[in-house]
Amino acid sequence: MKRFILSFIFFFVSTLFLYSENRYEFSVDLTKCVKDKLLVELMTPNLNSNEVIYRLPKIVPGTYEILNFGRFVSNFKVYDSLGTEMEFEKLDVNSWKIINAKKIKKLSYEVEDTWDTEIKEPYVFEPGGSNFEAGKNFVLNPHCLFGFFEGMKGVPYQINIIRPSDFFGACSLTDVVSKGNVDTYSIVDYKELQDAPMMYNVPDTTVLNIGETQVLISVYSLNKISSSKFISEQISEILFAQEEYLGGVLPIKKYVYLIYLTSTGGISGSSGALEHSYSSMYFLPEMDQKYLSQTIRDVSAHEFFHIVTPLNIHAEQIGDFNFNDPQMSKHLWLYEGTTEYASGLVQIKYGNMSLSDYLKVIESKVSGSKGFNDSISFTLMSEGCLKQYKDQYSNVYQKGALIGMCLDIQLRYLSKGKYGLQELMVDLSKTYGKNKSFKDDELFDQIVKLTYPEIGDFFHNYVEGNKPLPVKEMLELVGIGVADASGNKQISIGGISIGLNTATNRLMIVNTEAMDDFGKAIGYQEYDELIKFNGKKLTVNNSQEVIGGFVQNAKEGDELLVVVGRRKSDTSKTKKIKLKAKLFPVLPAASNNLIPFTNATDEQLKLRTDWIGKH
Ligand SMILES: [Zn+2]
Repeated sequence: MKRFILSFIFFFVSTLFLYSENRYEFSVDLTKCVKDKLLVELMTPNLNSNEVIYRLPKIVPGTYEILNFGRFVSNFKVYDSLGTEMEFEKLDVNSWKIINAKKIKKLSYEVEDTWDTEIKEPYVFEPGGSNFEAGKNFVLNPHCLFGFFEGMKGVPYQINIIRPSDFFGACSLTDVVSKGNVDTYSIVDYKELQDAPMMYNVPDTTVLNIGETQVLISVYSLNKISSSKFISEQISEILFAQEEYLGGVLPIKKYVYLIYLTSTGGISGSSGALEHSYSSMYFLPEMDQKYLSQTIRDVSAHEFFHIVTPLNIHAEQIGDFNFNDPQMSKHLWLYEGTTEYASGLVQIKYGNMSLSDYLKVIESKVSGSKGFNDSISFTLMSEGCLKQYKDQYSNVYQKGALIGMCLDIQLRYLSKGKYGLQELMVDLSKTYGKNKSFKDDELFDQIVKLTYPEIGDFFHNYVEGNKPLPVKEMLELVGIGVADASGNKQISIGGISIGLNTATNRLMIVNTEAMDDFGKAIGYQEYDELIKFNGKKLTVNNSQEVIGGFVQNAKEGDELLVVVGRRKSDTSKTKKIKLKAKLFPVLPAASNNLIPFTNATDEQLKLRTDWIGKH
């Protein structure tokens, strides 16, 4: 009996605690989305100072771009307990100052979604933004809707989402109660809230069990081109490989993939994903599953590996992230570079990719990095990636990944195969962690302590310094060389770089620097929009199918007809022009074809096996 009373008292006390708890209480009604806007209401926590500043983030972790989420807020109002409107002052695009703060009871404002907005650049990369498609889909990145009072990011949050009754909200938050069509989430602080995007729609979900880890995959594919079942098959193979890579156990209990497949492309002109501690949000083309498969594998491997870094190995600037006055760390080579590298390595090492396909991945990093300035120190670029080196940021996925590869091979070489980047990351995770940051200036010394003095020289020369990376030398250690271009003529469609013109949503030739003789023969020009390719209308979503399909079957003598849209100047109209030429073998303009040595030594072969497994 005593036991009963004790538990009764305990229950009573905990209930009392719950009701007296100071917290933010936000409500959003997804059934009342008008003109792509949602009303956000906040019952404020106790405010003890005379004036307060309410903020939405200027930047969020993982985006490396100033986006000013306050831009999407309108009709901002402050009320006291009698429901009377109070005055406020707008300090900047993300901040509202309110005096007589002790009287504040409620804030309300409207938020427009970032995916479909008149608000001009910088456009928000879709996985870090918001999508309000009434009756169809809502992508709610909390930083797009919910803010905090200055100095009060540590106060708990309650978020009430009123949803259409047939909708399901996928999210990594576990403290959620659903009553009728209201989902109520309890979150310990702003950092945890911001780290947990939600996607609401009619559910298409699959749950995977990988060891002890439960993985939820939620997919929105408007035209049902793909499904959570198909995507989960791709992801599970990669996750099993990642489990092995990480030492046999995934270091988290629950993980959520939120995947939006777009049929039209997005305002930012890119697709991809953004990482969080227990989830990742994807914005990818709704394309034929045959072509979607490898994209899903690559992107999901990359995002999941972010649980290693920066989520568990990071500098103070990330551990104590300042949403409104961001300081950038020097180590993007680590956060994005080694993550991108490991996402390819895990696929070849555990049997999900062939050696020739993996060498193509490295080749693409080598040619991709040529579009950037190689004479800038990578640590300096990292520190300046919001400002002077903004246009160099994307090199983290190219040269950053090659830094990871060179470091890995160098470590394997010095340790006679026993120790590589894989082991280094385990050691760094033990030294640091989710709540233990490193100091930017101490990281290299710490890595040298864990490894070899030569690694200090490596960082000094190639990461802090600006010497060209020793890619060729490192690959030679594992018996792989650059093919002699003279014997390597091949059929090509021109050696052009293709991007997206976000104004017209058409594919466009963005760079002709590496254009080969066929490209010159057919007559491409920079900024030509690609309208038809080999008789087929070209869109963002079918480009891989149309161009890739053509390349696969192309042979010498076949005629290629391309219809391009060309403008004489910025102000003139686009004219359709037909370009045609017969295919002939050409030398790639910048040849970097990698081939395994036929006469590799036993030492090289052993090191190759230690590096990427047996092939
Ligand atoms: Zn990343």
